[in-house]
Formats: sequence, structure tokens, C-alpha cells
Amino acid sequence: MGDTSITTNLLCPCNNIIYDSEKKLKTHQKTLGHRIWETQSEIKSLKCELTRRDNTISQLERKILERDQRILVLKERSKVLKSCLQSRMDDMS
Ligand SMILES: [Zn+2]
Repeated sequence: MGDTSITTNLLCPCNNIIYDSEKKLKTHQKTLGHRIWETQSEIKSLKCELTRRDNTISQLERKILERDQRILVLKERSKVLKSCLQSRMDDMS
């Protein structure tokens, strides 16, 4: 079990190679190939994050639109109620 965790630690996901020692892994991680892979995977995860946030933004935009429409309906209803009330008051006087 201990061996498995050591070999897993010395595995580089960019090429799936298990290195003999930490030093060799570190040396490999300084290579251009590894750094390019690192940058590419970073870009990939940033793109995912961007998509996720874009989705959140459009959800919120939709919610805002719905609320705006509800506000308009309520304003209209309030106008009707006000004029109803006004006409009743006029009748009483
Ligand atoms: Zn690597």
C-alpha cells in the first residue's frame, strides 16, 4: 500500500510516466513539454470556469427580467386599485 502511494506521487499526469525518484520528477516538471501541458490544462480549467460563470450570469439575467416584468404587472395593478379607490371616494363625497 505504501508503495502504491509513492509511485502515485511520482506519476506525472502530462505523460503518465512514473518517475524513479522525486528529483527526476522535479527535473521533468521543469521541461518545456511539461510546462506547456500545465499551461494548457490551466487554460482548459479556466475555460470551464468561464462557461460556468457565463451560465450563472445568464440565469441571473433571466431572473432580473422576470422580476422586472413582475414589477411592471404590480405597478399596473396598483394604478388600477388607486383609480378604483379614488372613484369610490368621489362617490362618497
Ligand atoms: Zn509532466
